[in-house]
Amino acid sequence: MFIISKCLLGANCKYNGANNYNEDVVQFTKSHTFTMVCPETCGGLKSPRDPAEIVRSDDGSFRVIDTKGVDLTRAFVEGATKELENSLEDAASKCERIEGAILKANSPSCGCGKIYDGSFSHTVIDGDGIFAGELKKRGIIIANENNFKEIFTE
Ligand code: SF4
Repeated sequence: MFIISKCLLGANCKYNGANNYNEDVVQFTKSHTFTMVCPETCGGLKSPRDPAEIVRSDDGSFRVIDTKGVDLTRAFVEGATKELENSLEDAASKCERIEGAILKANSPSCGCGKIYDGSFSHTVIDGDGIFAGELKKRGIIIANENNFKEIFTE
């Protein structure tokens, strides 16, 4: 079973009330089992909402701040924890294992390998979103909508 960002499958859970529908990912779901996640709405955030980015400090700590300066760290962390639990429970209930995850690129929750730098200037830096980081800690292979075909060879 694969974990997939809900917005890639057409759910309007993105910060601006829209989605990130991706035909390649939708096609992938036709031949693979999957469970859908949206860590941000699972953490209680509404859609639409103000965009947010991860801001890192020199001491290694981080906060998630939106464009109005509101600290959303708790919602992001709780949503990531809950969606990880939901995914593991869904897989266990179907006697399946998690084979990997296809997550929306650059998101502060779902981004894997690259995320925005916290300056809201569209600058991308190395790093993982909060949910993606939790999956990595569990040893789950993560990919985004651009590279999943190379990573999860059929
Ligand atoms: Fe939700 Fe992740 Fe898509 Fe953001 S990128 S809308 S957190 S599924």
